[in-house]
Amino acid sequence: MPHSSPPLIDRFGRTVNYVRLSITDRCDFRCVYCMSEKMVFLPRSEILSLEEIMALAEAFVALGVSKIRVTGGEPLVRKGALGLLRDMGRLKGLRELVITTNGAQLQETAKDLKAAGVNRINISLDSLRPERFREMTRVGDLATVLKGIEAARAIGFDGIKLNSVILRERNQDEVLDLVHYAIDRDIDISFIEEMPLGILDGRDRALDFVSSDEIRAQLSPFVELLASTETTGGPSKYYQVAGSKTRVGFISPHSHNFCSSCNRVRVTAEGRLLLCLGNEHAVDLKPWLRQNPFDPEALQAAIREAMDLKPLQHEFDLKAQPVIFRHMNATGG
Ligand code: SAM
Ligand code: SF4
Repeated sequence: MPHSSPPLIDRFGRTVNYVRLSITDRCDFRCVYCMSEKMVFLPRSEILSLEEIMALAEAFVALGVSKIRVTGGEPLVRKGALGLLRDMGRLKGLRELVITTNGAQLQETAKDLKAAGVNRINISLDSLRPERFREMTRVGDLATVLKGIEAARAIGFDGIKLNSVILRERNQDEVLDLVHYAIDRDIDISFIEEMPLGILDGRDRALDFVSSDEIRAQLSPFVELLASTETTGGPSKYYQVAGSKTRVGFISPHSHNFCSSCNRVRVTAEGRLLLCLGNEHAVDLKPWLRQNPFDPEALQAAIREAMDLKPLQHEFDLKAQPVIFRHMNATGG
């Protein structure tokens, strides 16, 4: 369905042209910053069907959205994910189809993802040390993920970016190693400040917090970072590593607020349209999707109306944690 109606614009004049769709809250990892060890997942009946997710994708593209990120939970554990991506890849008007993954299934799926029309992949990688990787993900196998990254490189996507969440006592000493790993492979890397989403097994996130400025200072004696005005339409602020193809991005919800240029919304696996990652403002789209008969125009009208609820900025506060009670896996990172 080509884009035929006026763009989605919120009360503050920001155009929303990017949506992140979480297609499952489930995951084969249990990363310490994202989930509790014993997570309770949504009942299956609450999760949107693949057809319902596709109806959402069509509605957003009809409303001018040109970029969809498929995420989760771990999107590649959802049965039928590849078929869904293939259908999305055919949407006229969609310029970019991208996914965020933990990389554990990439060896098997990279080829099909490319064939489905996925343009770019973000792969989470917090450590290059097998034991530590296991500790941070609680269950993940580093070697499998590294092979997945190589599989994605061999297939040749328009872009591959690593995402690393840096925690003071866990992996801060690896930021330079991670940047070198990216440089050696001509891929990008973004460092993400941990966000206080959900309560986590008694961990105090404020104690682990490392700001983007601190990471940049840590890197600067070893790699020359040239400020770049380039953007991928996401929240990363990028620096080009001099003499390489690699860009280093910083996602800094705490230290450098990026809300004024926010162009995105999220939909959770159960169909809640989240107007902001750091606020509870949401509209339940499931009733519109499950209306019988399904009315695409009513769904589009509900999405358009929801734009009035998009808040000016997030309200993350590490000391008053948690402000937001949903975990990242339920949110769609
Ligand atoms: N499972 C996939 C993955 O890990 O890439 C996609 C979903 S995951 C929720 C998306 C991104 O959110 C990952 O890069 C992860 O590191 C990041 N993330 C999870 N919890 C976070 C938190 N509390 N603060 C900041 N980033 C977080
Ligand atoms: Fe799973 Fe991704 Fe959350 Fe890790 S960050 S637990 S891989 S959803």
